[in-house]
Amino acid sequence: MTPAAIDAEAINIAARTLQSGGLVAFPTETVYGLGANALDEEAVKRIFAAKGRPASDPIIVHLHHPLQLPIVALDVPPVATTLIQHFWPGPLTLVFRRTPQVPAAVSAGMDTVAVRMPAHPIAQALIKSADCPVAAPSANRFARPSATTAAHVLEDLAGQVDVILDGGPAIIGLESTILDLTRPQPVVLRPGGVPLEDLRAFIPDLEVITKYLQPDETGILAPGMLVKHYSPRAQLLLYEGSSHQIMLTTIHQRAQDLIAANKRVGLLLPDSEIPQFAHLPVATFSLGADLEAISHNLFHGLRTLDSLGVDVILTHTYPAHGLGAALRDRLIRAAEGHLISC
Ligand code: AMP
Ligand code: MG
Repeated sequence: MTPAAIDAEAINIAARTLQSGGLVAFPTETVYGLGANALDEEAVKRIFAAKGRPASDPIIVHLHHPLQLPIVALDVPPVATTLIQHFWPGPLTLVFRRTPQVPAAVSAGMDTVAVRMPAHPIAQALIKSADCPVAAPSANRFARPSATTAAHVLEDLAGQVDVILDGGPAIIGLESTILDLTRPQPVVLRPGGVPLEDLRAFIPDLEVITKYLQPDETGILAPGMLVKHYSPRAQLLLYEGSSHQIMLTTIHQRAQDLIAANKRVGLLLPDSEIPQFAHLPVATFSLGADLEAISHNLFHGLRTLDSLGVDVILTHTYPAHGLGAALRDRLIRAAEGHLISC
């Protein structure tokens, strides 16, 4: 189906599946979600099992209307009302204190809950029809690039999910911005689809924690902030340079060295940069022309180059304005925290 032509019968089947404790993958404007009834602890546990996700990584709860908020959240502060008016439905996740109705498994045992209202018409129709809050992390195996198409969901979760609603590619292609409202000051825990600049219009002294946890670190402060995330199977080499041309020259040299060492090389770059590498025997994925397109295509690009069997993927960061902050965060995690300055 498409967002403009929703298949009511398919929504109905998927909603009944959620109500009976099953798992449904569905499109949202950020990425595809793997959903379960958020109030059904057994169903939520199936999400962790299907993804191979550690129990320490909490899950975002999705609503079809702000009126559902009291089911899951306590102590909603006044600033939340303003933010909800401006940013919901949309890619902004808010963290509140959790009601006792929400199983502890959803929140990795913490007394908080992360909540958002997706803007995608198929996600909204599903949650409305199921008539319950829907816990849904991204619909991919743990630590893999997020699923932005139904084909990505099948690639990672075939046999683990009861229903997949195919609504075409996710629109933004990067996850939501997460804002914690349970602290003395609002803190961004993850940059995402809502740019930080837009939040600062409402919260001038916004704090941002961009922490990258190593696998042996635990952090109640930063659940789910593991540095290795969104990772392709190939090694990802991520360059950040003082100028654009220096980055491209460095990537070109590294590609030549890798080819000389018999490595299969993939390039993940904006459209305008690909022609500079036309004479090299490399696989290329064109990300598009602007930050919106690059964000939309990032995870598909990582998966496509993986499927071509490359050993190493070469790419670079983007300035951290607008969607660039989220893009940079996902690239750093996909590269397991290794940023190569040039
Ligand atoms: P995803 O798998 O992309 O849906 O990511 C879910 C992420 O949301 C987790 O990895 C956490 O970073 C964040 N999250 C979910 N619930 C909470 C919470 N209660 N407190 C803080 N962060 C949360
Ligand atoms: Mg995820």
